Amino acid sequence: MAELQALKEQFVKLYGSEGVGEIHTFHAPGRVNLIGEHTDYNGGYVFPAALTFGTTMLIRRRADDQVGFASTNFPLHKHISINNIAFDPADDWINYPKGIISQLQLGGVNVGGYDILYSGAIPNGSGLSSSASIEVVTAFGLLTMEGQPADKVQIALLSQKAENEFMGVQCGIMDQFAVAMGKKDHAILLMCDTLEYKHVPFRSGAYNLVIGNTNKKRGLVDSAYNERRAQCEQAVRDLRAQFPELTLLGQLTLEQFNEYQHLIKDETVRKRARHVVEEIDRVLQSMKVLEQGNLESFGKLMIGSHDSLRDLYEVTCLELDVMVEEALKVPGVLGSRMTGAGFGGCTVSLVHEDSVTTFIDQVGRVYKEKTGLTADFYVCDIGNGVEEL
Ligand code: ADP
Ligand code: MG
Repeated sequence: MAELQALKEQFVKLYGSEGVGEIHTFHAPGRVNLIGEHTDYNGGYVFPAALTFGTTMLIRRRADDQVGFASTNFPLHKHISINNIAFDPADDWINYPKGIISQLQLGGVNVGGYDILYSGAIPNGSGLSSSASIEVVTAFGLLTMEGQPADKVQIALLSQKAENEFMGVQCGIMDQFAVAMGKKDHAILLMCDTLEYKHVPFRSGAYNLVIGNTNKKRGLVDSAYNERRAQCEQAVRDLRAQFPELTLLGQLTLEQFNEYQHLIKDETVRKRARHVVEEIDRVLQSMKVLEQGNLESFGKLMIGSHDSLRDLYEVTCLELDVMVEEALKVPGVLGSRMTGAGFGGCTVSLVHEDSVTTFIDQVGRVYKEKTGLTADFYVCDIGNGVEEL
């Protein structure tokens, strides 16, 4: 761990060699959703996985009430009193860890003074959830340092609350949950409403997950997102003619939907609902085929998911479609799909390790020709959730 040694040296340079006790090191990963898109708010499953790269946090106790914040990713570095934790736009990235401290304090944890240095390997703002990663590593690290190690699900919930309430970002629970609860070589089957979950083996063998960032600036995402939610609610209202108790599309089986879909009057609304019900079914099929170690079948489900997001839910865009289409032309690619809310962001593909270089060259080149944009690619494996190193 030469990198960790270098990071420790940087910590000592920044904060000196004197502190209270040792420097402790914590790590939280980034995450990707493998399948199950636009299912979370319909009472369905998502299927994220933690990545092998993430955010490392070095931390050492101080004798006073100050908290030192520094990051190898951003120049802003300062000390703030633990008794004065409030959102300040001038504090930029430091608001993320401050949001966690604020939540801990609200929960009655008497956080002491610390010096902290972060180092992130996740590209910021590219859909791999660097924000959840810094939140979760901070919550886990501080609670461990205070001698109050908490349940990781509680840490995910606390981190989500910090992002919602302190940062004012209305995210769901998937990101923080995956980052906290990830397990090496496993995906997480998660029901976002109930937090019911299961680790599902993902034996990737000779295959890598390759994430492609379209670098497309997203427009109109919020209004389209709200429209899709409203259409799902409309479908539920129509289907109540047969299922009076229905509150969410995820409560229907695919068979029930097929039998009664004619009750949904509007054709577009019917298409949206079909995506949701079939996507939830694809997640459950994914769990089954992965438990059998069948990556080929999982790849086909990924392709089905993308087709449905393009044709039925209509949340892809030229950039995502081109990237997936070109990915599937490369030999050794089992599957490819958009990941995240859509209209830009990333794709995830399952690529044989011998094909990764060709994949990046070929998809990157044709993507640039067809869209004028330069893509970024990240080769990933599935790693553990937050932990002390
Ligand atoms: P995403 O979560 O998709 O990567 P966000 O915009 O939600 O994008 O969060 C990115 C922000 O999180 C960064 O701009 C920064 O403020 C904060 N952040 C993430 N990782 C680090 C890090 N290693 N050091 C400091 N700040 C970080
Ligand atoms: Mg984020």
